[in-house]
Amino acid sequence: MEKLKVIITGAGIGGLTAGIALRRAGCEVEIYDRVKELRPVGAGISLWSNGAKVLTYLGMGEQLAAIGGTMNQMAYHHKTGQQLNKISLLPLIDSVGQRPYPVARRDLQNMLLKAYGDEIKLDHKCVGVEEDETGVTVFFENGHQTKGDVLIAADGIRSTVRKYVLGVDADIEPKYAGYVNWNGLVKASPDLVAENTWVIYVGDHQRASMMPIGGDRLYFFFDVPLAKGTPCNPELFKAELKEHFQGWAEPVQMLIDRFNPSDVARIEIHDAGPFNRYVRGRVALLGDSAHATCPDMGQGGCLALEDALVVADHLVNTHAGVERALRRYEAERMIRANAIVQKARKRAEQIHGKDPAITQQWYQQLATEKPSDVTDALKKVILGGPLR
Ligand code: FAD
Repeated sequence: MEKLKVIITGAGIGGLTAGIALRRAGCEVEIYDRVKELRPVGAGISLWSNGAKVLTYLGMGEQLAAIGGTMNQMAYHHKTGQQLNKISLLPLIDSVGQRPYPVARRDLQNMLLKAYGDEIKLDHKCVGVEEDETGVTVFFENGHQTKGDVLIAADGIRSTVRKYVLGVDADIEPKYAGYVNWNGLVKASPDLVAENTWVIYVGDHQRASMMPIGGDRLYFFFDVPLAKGTPCNPELFKAELKEHFQGWAEPVQMLIDRFNPSDVARIEIHDAGPFNRYVRGRVALLGDSAHATCPDMGQGGCLALEDALVVADHLVNTHAGVERALRRYEAERMIRANAIVQKARKRAEQIHGKDPAITQQWYQQLATEKPSDVTDALKKVILGGPLR
């Protein structure tokens, strides 16, 4: 039997993982990305147990543990420093059978590239797709074209291929979530956060968060509700954060003093979807191109990992043709991923003061809820993934 040839556009978390899964299963894979040099957008990412399970399943468990931080508990603090709650994650880890791993995006990307182990064709921006009964042809801005059995468009929140799949004429503009996120890495230190703890300071509809990652570092972020289009200038990052977080607890002030602004990403947060199609013929959307979520549940990357596993599984194990395999992928993924897009948007609104009364209620809830309420909610999301 001839090898299935899969073309993937986008070498982010989703595209690379799909490439790894499909190559492991014996498919011929070509991955293309529009950039000249692969650089992760953002500093860190928390891979919850459902995402970590996919990487473990694909043989990267040890490498992931080496780059990941040990996150045994999470703690919410009021902006003044008063602890609102402290939640051990150990019962959750025990019940779902996998640790979550916060990691540096650069380390994750290097790990995935190594596991993929083949060339990524850079400086290839996909600009069009055509299908016939023998396959799918993908066209690139530089004049190159390639034909395969399947196209997986893992081309991110501003996907080029999405409009083809949805059958619409214009690109779909992502929706601004109403807040800006600054994120970066700093050296871990007990005066910032206790060992093995993820700490989140909340107040004024803002957040400041620090998570342990491998290599004795912390992945941090700040969230502030702001109008779209405010200036993004690294020279101003410290001053603007000092102003937004004026009067917040000492570790938050020290964090602002310590980070290197030239290594910090400042991102206006958007989401996209939910969409009512992920596939058309031989073409499948995967990851953010299918369902870009607000990062407030830490699930966007995890969903991309899950998609990769599921699409590869259906392509390899469905013997009734590629199109049917992709329809099975869509049926398996759409309800879960679309629900998370909506839930994450709601959570973003709750956290960032869309209705100030609801945010106030959330602050009160943080102080009163049982740790098991929090871990049960996390467990539900984790066990909704393909690897239970
Ligand atoms: P991307 O990573 O966006 O990759 C898309 C790739 O496609 C890029 O390399 C791009 O260059 C390429 N591309 C685009 N257009 C074309 C084209 N026309 N032709 C060829 N190539 C193209 N998720 C979590 O699970 N946990 C978290 O803690 C978390 N935190 C987050 C924090 C922030 C601030 C943000 C913004 C997101 C966060 N996410 C998190 C979400 C996560 O980052 C995304 O869901 C994930 O990166 C999506 O991966 P992807 O491969 O689908 O897309």
